[in-house]
Amino acid sequence: MSFKCELLIYAMEKKVKNVQESGTLNTFHHMVRLKAMGKDIINLCVGEPDIAPASVVKDAAIQAIRTSKIGYTPSEGLAELREAVSVFFKNEECDLNPQREIIITAGAKPALFISLTALLGIGDEVLIPEPFYPSYPSMVSLSGAIPVFIKGLPENGFKVSVPDIVKAVTGKTKFLILNTPVNPTGSVYSESELKDIMDFCVQSNILCIFDDVYNHFIYSPELKFLTSSLFKAYRNNLILIRSFSKEFAMTGWRIGYIAGHSDYVTQIKVIQGHASGNPQTVSQYAAIAALKNFDKARVPLTVFSERRQLIIDVLKERKQLSFVDPQGAFYFYCDIRNNPRSMNSVDMSLYLMQEHGVAVTPGTAFGPDGFIRLSYADGSRLKEGLERLVNGLDNL
Ligand code: PLP
Repeated sequence: MSFKCELLIYAMEKKVKNVQESGTLNTFHHMVRLKAMGKDIINLCVGEPDIAPASVVKDAAIQAIRTSKIGYTPSEGLAELREAVSVFFKNEECDLNPQREIIITAGAKPALFISLTALLGIGDEVLIPEPFYPSYPSMVSLSGAIPVFIKGLPENGFKVSVPDIVKAVTGKTKFLILNTPVNPTGSVYSESELKDIMDFCVQSNILCIFDDVYNHFIYSPELKFLTSSLFKAYRNNLILIRSFSKEFAMTGWRIGYIAGHSDYVTQIKVIQGHASGNPQTVSQYAAIAALKNFDKARVPLTVFSERRQLIIDVLKERKQLSFVDPQGAFYFYCDIRNNPRSMNSVDMSLYLMQEHGVAVTPGTAFGPDGFIRLSYADGSRLKEGLERLVNGLDNL
């Protein structure tokens, strides 16, 4: 067998070995199973807003079906939707060519996957700050590349900075995957932190895959910034991934997009053409309506801000859990390392779900053990869920 062939088999084996079911989905599936058995479980685990999409979005989808706009579209998405994305960027003073620099995708997950698959080679290294969104390492492994983890410091909300990144860079480093606001910590990188990181990427010839799905969910006005301005300044080194899932409460509609330099976009387009063809046609029409009615269609931030404050008040009053102060997304990343039964995070989440009827996600889904993630995307029974959590922790 040739050396090349052996290398390929080794890479294929490694790909599959490194890929496991997502820890967040694992918890979600367990919750669904228990609920189906009649158990009353309150959901503090899933990152899915419990708010209905705006009427204007739903009406556009219904209209598309009624008028039979339901066939294939170009695999990179409808020209009209790519145009709407480019108008959105133009309003933020960033020019994007809708033919060459934008691809519509079936959400952020496929956008990440096809970008990595299209642009990585076997043995390339991809930097991933830890804790991380669970799919990143598996997607990197599936593309034949190697995930390299960078630990941030708890006192900085686990955010990484240039000195942390420098230590992880080798001659094989190709990408950095950056997500802000961060799932699972809720931390938000400031504009100046991002600029420092991007300057380093430019100097070191690293491409940043920027996962921007929580951009809308920033609670501190001083941390708000336009990702489009970052894209404008660093467009040769930045691939921007956006989704309608959280911002417009369109999770199941499976719709998002990639903005990037045409050299990258051209390659990614080819992969999408083979992998799935066009994203759902009806969802594309709904997405056009969401962008054209932007202010009306986005989920109201005040709802999430109030939920966030409620959790801060309860956790601070009860002092059972310390947590990263979350400035964004809809998560709390809580430290359970000092729990009296020395439980790991998987056992803790099973204990809380099975014995106290509240579902939270174990930290191991995101890398390190010793933490649990609470989600307030679903606020339908938040107070009751927090009571169950507090009670469960009291009874350890
Ligand atoms: N990236 C991050 C950081 C996420 O938290 C999620 C979903 O929870 C996604 C990507 C996937 O989003 P989508 O529903 O658009 O595929």
